[in-house]
Amino acid sequence: MSTSFEADRVDQLAQAYWAEHRTFEVKEDASNKAKFYCLSMLPYPSGKLHMGHVRNYVIGDVISRYQRMQGKNVLQPMGWDAFGLPAENAAIKHQASPATWTYENIAQMRAQLKRLGLGLDWSREIATCDDSYYRWEQWFFIQCMKKGLVYRKNSVVNWDPVDQTVLANEQVVDGRGWRSGALVEKKEIPQWFFKITAYAEELLSGLDGLPGWPEQVKTMQRNWIGKSEGLEIQFEVEGHDPLSIYTTRADTLMGVTYLAVSPDHPLAKHVAKKHAALADFLEHCRKTSTMESDLATAEKLGMDLGIFAIHPLSQKKLPIWVANFVLMEYGSGAVMSVPGHDERDHEFAKKYDLPILEVVRAKEGEAHDVQVQAYTAYGWICHSGPEFDGLSSEAAKLKMADFLKSRAHKKTHYRLRDWGVSRQRYWGTPIPVVYCDDCGAVPEREENLPVKLPQVENLGAGNPLKTLQSFIDAPCPTCGKPAKRETDTFDTFVESSWYYARYCSFDQTQSMLDERADYWLSVDQYIGGIEHAVMHLLYARFFHKLMRDFGLVQSSEPFINLLTQGMVLKDGTKMSKSKGNVVDPGALIDRFGADTVRLFSMFAAPPEQSLEWSDAGVEGAARFIRKLWTYLQNCPREKLDPLPSKARGELHQLLMKINQDMNRYQFNTVVSGAMKILNLLSEVPETERALHQEGGKILLCVLSPVIPHLTHVLWQELGFPGLVLDASWPCVDERALVLEEVTLAIQVNGKLRGTLTLKANLSEEALKQAVLNEATLQKHWEGKSIRKWVIVQNRLVNIVVG
Ligand SMILES: [Zn+2]
Repeated sequence: MSTSFEADRVDQLAQAYWAEHRTFEVKEDASNKAKFYCLSMLPYPSGKLHMGHVRNYVIGDVISRYQRMQGKNVLQPMGWDAFGLPAENAAIKHQASPATWTYENIAQMRAQLKRLGLGLDWSREIATCDDSYYRWEQWFFIQCMKKGLVYRKNSVVNWDPVDQTVLANEQVVDGRGWRSGALVEKKEIPQWFFKITAYAEELLSGLDGLPGWPEQVKTMQRNWIGKSEGLEIQFEVEGHDPLSIYTTRADTLMGVTYLAVSPDHPLAKHVAKKHAALADFLEHCRKTSTMESDLATAEKLGMDLGIFAIHPLSQKKLPIWVANFVLMEYGSGAVMSVPGHDERDHEFAKKYDLPILEVVRAKEGEAHDVQVQAYTAYGWICHSGPEFDGLSSEAAKLKMADFLKSRAHKKTHYRLRDWGVSRQRYWGTPIPVVYCDDCGAVPEREENLPVKLPQVENLGAGNPLKTLQSFIDAPCPTCGKPAKRETDTFDTFVESSWYYARYCSFDQTQSMLDERADYWLSVDQYIGGIEHAVMHLLYARFFHKLMRDFGLVQSSEPFINLLTQGMVLKDGTKMSKSKGNVVDPGALIDRFGADTVRLFSMFAAPPEQSLEWSDAGVEGAARFIRKLWTYLQNCPREKLDPLPSKARGELHQLLMKINQDMNRYQFNTVVSGAMKILNLLSEVPETERALHQEGGKILLCVLSPVIPHLTHVLWQELGFPGLVLDASWPCVDERALVLEEVTLAIQVNGKLRGTLTLKANLSEEALKQAVLNEATLQKHWEGKSIRKWVIVQNRLVNIVVG
């Protein structure tokens, strides 16, 4: 056995063993082993592994290996979120095909991941750009189409008028196209939508059944779904159809001074036909961003339509304005404006000199100058007539609903919109639809799937599918006449919404999933960044419910527990190429070996918190590993039985803490606990061979998830049976635990009468008995009755007698 630690040799020995014995390939086990499905979010194959990846995957790997040592059948797969814009942009830049670029990157990143020694079942690897994967996505879309869960409607996209192409949001830089520099316009084109709103209520209520998710993520999802209860109120319009307006603040109805409609509202468009200035204004709005976040900060602009609505209670005439901040996609595209009690309405009213009324006060009788600033909180109603004045906002809402009778009805509203999945890009899953002049939009026949994405070598500005006749021309799946294929591809969030399920049935060619999915799902532990708190995690939950309703899975939620790991920072900022503070994991592994990189990643911070990169910290991790190696070289090989001792008690105290921390995934303190054990054992005389053996074995076991290479090699070299990763997790020997002793002051009626040294943390009963049994103290209460015990734990006992 070599005596100095050689990281390369150790990494290679362990990794070669795992590869040769397919140690991490798992089967569905019908025996009494519990399953554990541990999954880290799949990476985008950029070609370069960064420290954020390392941290994410090592956390997943530590959990997987720990669960395996708990006797579970553990699945930990890996794959590639391989479609998407960066590949397309890179291909344009390098004049290569996106497929070539992507598969080369996958090969590089796979090799980088393998050097980390992750316990992955590589036999299940998925690349989402592979047609054996996306054919089932196309099949699934067709099932949704048949059930009316997808539909096509016009929607606004970013249009580059120079390149004549649709741009993704990230290709719009300061309002201009990233390649052409042209001012980006809005354009309406037909796009496909998943009806996620049909599941809004279940997506919301399901969050209550996920105690293993961070509260922050659940709050973000609740806000995104944005459920509110309100009234839909009919406003009559002079000379036009009435407007239906949704509000959650019916208590402010008497404070409405104008209505506002979206620039896309039919009423605005109708008036604009005979109103050139209004037509220009609508055109201006069309060209500017409709992103909700932009609208919140953009200047509020509007025009008076010159028509009037009738207030449903006061019968007063209310002017109708068009306003750039009202979105057609939200509610009915029309809002009632209450400038006294809404900041946005207030800003608009001030700008265009519209009246502002006060109808809610913080306290009865206490006025607030709403001409200066809107009062937006709930309070007490005023200036709303004798029926409402003096009521609380809550009571006024209810009374308003009764009062309006048929002119209003209760409505539940969700902020969540249907999910638009059409992308006018090449590098994605083709949407399996054919357009026929006679039959309309028809799904491709299932036996013709996959609709393969054709290889294109030289990408230009636009989507090459649009001009690729061999792709576009297709017979109508219904009538057989010549028809045209859809040239849009799916949003890549579609691929990442169900990959976790496909890992279970990775090689199934006859169906999307099979019974193996029922064995493995739901995912027991999911790990990824907080930046996916809303879209990815919401879409995956939605797909899971769809799959359940199609009979493909049995559970209702995809991920039982979620861990959102913190970022890796350097000098307090996120590592990035532009800041020049990127640390290359490959170079670190070259220098120190995989175990040091893994140990530092786990030791420097708890998983959910940011990790500050430190070269000194990495050096420290390397030193610990060398010290551990050297110590374990001398671990006795013969079988020995440990004897009780103070040091053995301390060893098990430390193990108890490690086990608690491991169980709550606080790996940083697990590592520091192991460091303490090593320090403890280093002080123990060499003659206590049994303790060294027991301690060495405990160290190998508890560190095995974090530094699997060193522990694998030494476990075998020291002659322990089997593999360390299949060893049972070490248990605390309760009998070995040192019971600390404490000296208590014993008082009688507040006077110190003596001291007593006892075991710490005795129960109240045991403590009283021990005091009463103490012969030297008994004279102080003999012949008297004990009225009261005052006990300060581990410090003082005062007996009140009389
Ligand atoms: Zn047809």
